[in-house]
Order: sequence, then structure tokens, then C-alpha cells
Amino acid sequence: IDTAAAVSRNPATGALIATYPFQTPEEVEQVLSASEGAYRLWRDTPMTERVAAYRKLAAILRERIDRLATLITDEMGKPIAAARAEVEKCAATIEWLADHGPAILADEPVAVEGDDRVYVSYLPIGTILGVMPWNFPLWQAIRASAPIMLSGNGFVLKHAPNVMGAAYALQAAHEDAGFPAGLFANLNADNDAVAHVIEDRRISAVTLTGSMRAGAAVAATAAGALKKSLLELGGSDPFIVLADADLDRAVAAGIEARFQNTGQVCLAAKRFILEAPIAGAFTRRFVEAARALTVGDPSDATNRIGPMARADLRDQLHDQVLRTIDQGATLLLGGHKVPGDGNYYQPTVLANVRPGMAAFDEETFGPVAAITVADDAEHAITLANSSEYGLGGNLWTGDVAKGQRIARRIETGGVFINGFSATNARIPVGGVKKSGYGRELSHFGLREFTNAQTVWAK
Ligand code: NAP
Repeated sequence: IDTAAAVSRNPATGALIATYPFQTPEEVEQVLSASEGAYRLWRDTPMTERVAAYRKLAAILRERIDRLATLITDEMGKPIAAARAEVEKCAATIEWLADHGPAILADEPVAVEGDDRVYVSYLPIGTILGVMPWNFPLWQAIRASAPIMLSGNGFVLKHAPNVMGAAYALQAAHEDAGFPAGLFANLNADNDAVAHVIEDRRISAVTLTGSMRAGAAVAATAAGALKKSLLELGGSDPFIVLADADLDRAVAAGIEARFQNTGQVCLAAKRFILEAPIAGAFTRRFVEAARALTVGDPSDATNRIGPMARADLRDQLHDQVLRTIDQGATLLLGGHKVPGDGNYYQPTVLANVRPGMAAFDEETFGPVAAITVADDAEHAITLANSSEYGLGGNLWTGDVAKGQRIARRIETGGVFINGFSATNARIPVGGVKKSGYGRELSHFGLREFTNAQTVWAK
């Protein structure tokens, strides 16, 4: 296999799907010059026409749902029902942006003094580079790009190499929806070439969803060129269950929160922090429910857990499990790679996990739940915050007002009380601490990459 190419391989079988040779420097130059021309057209395109292009894009995604969902499942192993839901979520989010974006991006009058006319305009700033991960191949790219482009910017997508098929399908969908050619364009290149693109004058800023390591590298390059960056990085979300919680609902939600997308979710519940009186009961029921999860061929709609996206990621996860056991944790379920073809990993539950152990301190990006017992609510808060991550959080209690008081003390970008972390077009998503900075979606996301320009007429 060509090392200078993005390689897409079916994680359920190991079969090669396609290789996409990296773009030559000349081709990268074409991407950048086309994006510059397309941006000039698009920034002067009336909002009504931008909205119309987005409505068409949503319709195209829905028309192509079978093909797109199959592509997602083949490239990264997500169970097919979840792949369909991902395509639908993209379409629904685009429609929300089309409905509400124009008002959020409209000029905003400000009362300053006297009868001066003062307003703030939200103007585009240029072409934004988006570096994206493979775990939601369509959703991550749409969630980043649609608010950015609706506000008049261009978008160059550097997708993860194992999902380039999805990246090209998305580019084609934009072209077919009537966006100017080159406005949404793929960059298929190695990290060194990406660094040069970040430095290029035709790129105005960068948004990255991915690991801390990738975020630090890309943000450093952007900072060197004095360009803004937005980072959506990893998470190790706490799932706190207090003694007064509804255990039936908490167990069911905990299973979904941890094992959806085969555990490969930034906002997945990763650390289960259980108040002592209910720890035993929750753990028993959680283990039984995890044991019942069906693992297998993701194109078979009856399976809940597919393969992990890449063999090396399964190796890393298994190493985290082994180290956590070595450090004194108790293995209650799973803990093994499933033998045979495909990168399958057994749903795994570790108990007696404490700070200092791998599954507590590191992000586990796969079907592995870590259980920690807290003495009381105060201890649970301390444990939840004992992480370098701060993305999402989950809190289960029978007393919502108490939950809301506790939420203020949890150092994360979101806290979901009696539910689990999820994205929604109406609310911002993003992190604190080493989970990154900046926000996507909602009015925050629509305005992140705009020039908030003051116009003051005396
Ligand atoms: P990753 O290895 O960091 O890759 C993410 C993207 O960054 C890929 O396109 C990758 O391309 C690129 N990249 C990595 N190093 C780079 C560099 N030095 N310069 C330029 N680009 C670089 O992460 P992943 O394994 O795909 O995704 C899993 C991670 O993403 C987890 O930590 C997860 O929590 C996080 N995530 C966060 C969110 C969120 O909203 N906060 C959402 C989803 C996922 P190459 O592979 O070509 O290097």
C-alpha cells in the first residue's frame, strides 16, 4: 500500500476499500486558489441564497441516506442504524441552521448613547480549515462546517485518512446542492502539508476535532501564524449516580452513554462515579446489561456493537485495560479482543478504578466502562473534577435542584442531569481544560468564525 495515500479499510473484515493518493503540491494549490475565488463569491451571496443551498444540501443528504450510511458503516464500522441516524442528524441540523441562522447572524443594534446609530455586523473572515476525526465522519464535518459557511466563510476539510470516502461524498453533495465550486473542498494530505496550509495566507483560521496531541500541534502552527483556532478535543466524561437516583433509568442511560458508537465518542460517559449506597446495585445491573449487548457485523441491524475503527486503536484500548488491571482494578466483564477478523473488542467493565489508574486518568476511546465508588456527593464532585479533561458530564439524582447546584461545580462544557451528553443544534458544544476551547453549534458556533464588526454612525 502506498504510504503517501489515505487508506480506507473495512474494520469489520480488514478488507481494503480504497486508497486515496495524497494531493500533490499543485493540487493543494488548486484547492486553495479555488477556495479563495469561491469565498469571494459566497461572502457577497445574499443570506437567502446561502440558506437555499443549505436546504438543498439537507434534501440531498436525505435522498442519499442509504448510500451514505453504508459508506460510513463500511469505512469506520458504526452499526448501520447509527449510521443512518448520523445522516439524518446532519440534515436536521442544517435545517435548524437554515431556519434560525439568518436571525442570529443579522446586524445587531446596540443602544450606546444619544441617537447615534450603532450596530454589530457578523461578517465572514475567509476560508477556515477543518481538521476532523473519523468517529462521526459526516456529522463532525457538518457540525463544524455548516455554521462556518452559513456565515459566509469557505471551508477546507482535512478529514481523517480512513474516512476519505465520506469526505468525498460530502464534497459531492455540496457541489450538487449548488454551492460555489471549491467552497467546500477536501484537502487530502499528510500533517506536514497541513501545517503549510495552515500558514498559507488563504486560510484564515482553523478548527480541529480530535485528540489532544493533534490539537496541540495544529493550534501551535496556527498560533505561529497568528490565526485563531477552535479545539474540540477528547473527553473523559464522568457519569455520576447519586444514592437518590432512579437506577432503572440510570443503568439504561449509562449503557447507551458508554457503548454507543462502540464507545468511540468524545462525549461518551467514561468514568462511572457511584455514590456508595447504590454502587453495588448499579454495578450488578450495569454489568448484566453490558453483557447482553450484541457484538458483531455492523451491517446487521440487530447488532449494537461493531468493530473498533482501526486495529491500532483496539491495541491501545486493550493496553489501557491491562494497565488498569495491573494497577489494581477488578475486571468484571470482557477485557479481551474478540478473536478472528475485524477489530472487535468485548464490552468491558472495570471496577475499583481510582485516580492514578489508566482508565481514570486517560481517555478510553472504546467499549470500556470504569467504575469508581464515591463516599458521598462531595467526593463524587472531587472525583469528577480529578481529570485533565472537561468536555461533558452526567449526573443522576432524584433532586434536580440539587443536581443544578452540583452542576455549577463540575468543570465541564456541559452537564446533563438525568440524561446523558448529546449534541443538539440549539446548544453549544465544547470543552474546558484539555478538552479544548471555543464552541460549536447554536449562536456561539454561528458567530465563532465571524468578524464582529462595530459600525457606529455619529
Ligand atoms: P486524531 O488522531 O487526533 O485525529 C483527528 C484528526 O486530526 C485527523 O484528521 C488526523 O489526521 C488529524 N491530525 C492528527 N495530528 C495532526 C497534526 N499534527 N497535524 C494535522 N492534523 C493532524 O483523533 P482520532 O483518533 O481521529 O479521534 C479521536 C479523538 O477525537 C478522541 O480523543 C476524541 O475524544 C476526539 N473527539 C472529540 C470530539 C469533540 O467534540 N470534542 C468529537 C469527536 C472526537 P491524521 O490521521 O492524518 O494525522
